[in-house]
Amino acid sequence: MGTEQGERIMSKDKYWVRIRCKRCGERFILKGRMRKGQIETGFKQCLCDNQTDFDIHTERC
Ligand SMILES: [Zn+2]
Repeated sequence: MGTEQGERIMSKDKYWVRIRCKRCGERFILKGRMRKGQIETGFKQCLCDNQTDFDIHTERC
């Protein structure tokens, strides 16, 4: 009861970040890192210049 296996405190938590552009449907799969409660990927914008309208799913590597 209450044992959380696989839960490790590491500074280099890595995530897969799947991004789908809602405007043109382009998909991106990036590696991200958790920093200060947010996942950083370095992703800036889609090929269609969309910077805000995305479906984003993250999962642990
Ligand atoms: Zn797009």
